[in-house]
Amino acid sequence: MALEKLGKALNSALKKLARSSTVDEATIKEVVRDIQRALIQADVNVRLVLQLTKTIEKRALEEKAPAGASKKEHIIQIVYEELTKFLGKEARPLEIREKPTVLLTVGIQGSGKTTSVAKLARHLQKRGYKVGLVCSDTWRPGAYYQLKQLVEPFGIEVFGDPNEKDAVRLAREGVEYFKNKGVDVIIVDSAGRHKDESGLIEEMKQISEAIKPHEVILVIDGTIGQQAYNQALAFKEATPIGSIIVTKLDGSAKGGGALSAVAATGAPIKFIGVGERIDDLEPFDPKRFVSRLLG
Ligand code: GDP
Repeated sequence: MALEKLGKALNSALKKLARSSTVDEATIKEVVRDIQRALIQADVNVRLVLQLTKTIEKRALEEKAPAGASKKEHIIQIVYEELTKFLGKEARPLEIREKPTVLLTVGIQGSGKTTSVAKLARHLQKRGYKVGLVCSDTWRPGAYYQLKQLVEPFGIEVFGDPNEKDAVRLAREGVEYFKNKGVDVIIVDSAGRHKDESGLIEEMKQISEAIKPHEVILVIDGTIGQQAYNQALAFKEATPIGSIIVTKLDGSAKGGGALSAVAATGAPIKFIGVGERIDDLEPFDPKRFVSRLLG
């Protein structure tokens, strides 16, 4: 993972603290500066970095270590807690409450949407759900075949018609088709042709009206770094039932920037994409993520 670099830099800041003989104001300020540098290098927004490190510094200077913990241990705990909060605090798992649960995925072309839909279908199938996929991408006939190729080895069915021109109709028919088949989860994959957020949101609204999804999932390319903020914000404002998958965190030096930018909007990140293979999708849990980052 490219986020390893960030993990290493944060770790070396904490190691420096562990090695220092005394923990005074100067030591704390130095650790805070190292953390700032590490985050900025991972493309985290400077303003967010400053807010975060100010809180860490204030707590480290003011709080007393709880009984049984050393000052150093307490500061490490503060860094851990604040980084976790920074990434959204609690895990927000995808919930499948009703049968069928209908999910709609949206995303800009190239974001990794088709791959993520296949990964999500496989993830749910492994948890015992019967999943049906609807390809409502009428702009790229190849999308249907791409999705089919990804999930067919697992016996997951894809509904689609490369010749149909009406995406809303395709979505509606696909949902009906799988409802009649009694599947647990229906994932409708919309067209990812738009480069701009407004087009994306317009399309989401049209298809949403027709199929009334339980949740709309936006797929965001993690390599765009902190630019992910605007996309996530526009999306969050447009739908009360939205969640996000941030992809390509394995390859990007900007992954930290993308994750923190999305978390800053308050939109729940439910999964992260960490590779090209079908199993390279992880439920996102800020606590576990930070624990792993700090190794
Ligand atoms: P779409 O246009 O949004 O449907 O994008 P695709 O699903 O076709 O993905 C675009 C490219 O990104 C493909 O080459 C995928 O293999 C790749 N990709 C998708 N998700 C990930 C990921 O998490 N990590 C890496 N390294 N590549 C990914």
